Amino acid sequence: MVYDLIIVGLGPAGAGAAIYAKRSGLNVLCLEAEAPGGLLNRINTVDNYLGFPHTTGPELAALLFEQIRKLEIPFKIKKVTWIEGGETKKVHCDNEVFESKYVIIASGRKARKLGLKNEANLVNKGISYCAICDAALYKGKDVAVVGGGNSAIEEAIYIAKLVNKVYLIHRRDEFRADEKLVEELKKLPNVEILYNSNVTELIGTEKLEGIIVNGERKLDVACLFTYVGYEPQGDFLSDLEITDEKGYILVDDNYQTKEDGIYAVGDAILKKVYQIVTAASEGAVAALEVVKRVKNNN
Ligand code: NAP
Repeated sequence: MVYDLIIVGLGPAGAGAAIYAKRSGLNVLCLEAEAPGGLLNRINTVDNYLGFPHTTGPELAALLFEQIRKLEIPFKIKKVTWIEGGETKKVHCDNEVFESKYVIIASGRKARKLGLKNEANLVNKGISYCAICDAALYKGKDVAVVGGGNSAIEEAIYIAKLVNKVYLIHRRDEFRADEKLVEELKKLPNVEILYNSNVTELIGTEKLEGIIVNGERKLDVACLFTYVGYEPQGDFLSDLEITDEKGYILVDDNYQTKEDGIYAVGDAILKKVYQIVTAASEGAVAALEVVKRVKNNN
């Protein structure tokens, strides 16, 4: 079967596209490599999404998934390995190929690594990129958070409620995060902020036993939560040549890439604002563009 539209990724951007495409009558298929909701599943607090004065990422992800199911939008948990352009697009997964007239890529971003020796081996053994998944494991212990953006500060506030002490390690002396969040963090009695500081070494082989900061100070922390930004997930895009040198997908005003009929939305594209609300809206705009083309048969 040749679908009208295949959507790669079912976070807010992909779900936004799926809802508009399905309600407009398109024959659509969604492919998601992990859990529906994407990065939402790893965000603790969401306070800035319309209609939700205060919710959590997983809660929003569950609601979004419920909406997908209610609309009977077909989806499969499949990792896309590569996409072939042309008049009929071929979306390759590990052992299956799906065909469609149009594709919307909404594959999002993944956490950037610090790049320290032994970091990969210590993941889930004291190195974490997901406070909502792991912070409860460190109740009563000392932990560190690295980063100075909204993610690091928001997650540090969440973690501080669960653990004994949080060291917030930031490489500069001012934060990139919203002032309101920084003020909230500074009020917490069990948070120590280390400015102009970098984690230079991870101690431990089987599990994290501590970290070294600026080559000299040892902190006996049981976990290091790393929030130093994100990078696009686009390993499957190399054949298409639609990304910049950092891997972000380049799109026009209608969210179309330079490959005709292949669109991209959400955190995977190069843009100014990376928010849930922008991702959802980009998905809707791209889907309606595809709807127009399917109806006009072009
Ligand atoms: P970000 O804004 O890119 O911040 C990354 C932080 O990590 C920066 O403080 C950066 O330091 C630091 N950093 C980068 N590489 C590092 C390294 N190798 N070693 C040590 N520190 C390093 O990333 P984010 O906080 O994940 O946010 C991503 C986007 O999502 C942003 O647009 C953000 O506003 C948005 N977001 C919004 C909300 C919200 O609205 N509530 C919540 C979360 C995220 P420098 O400052 O020195 O560059």
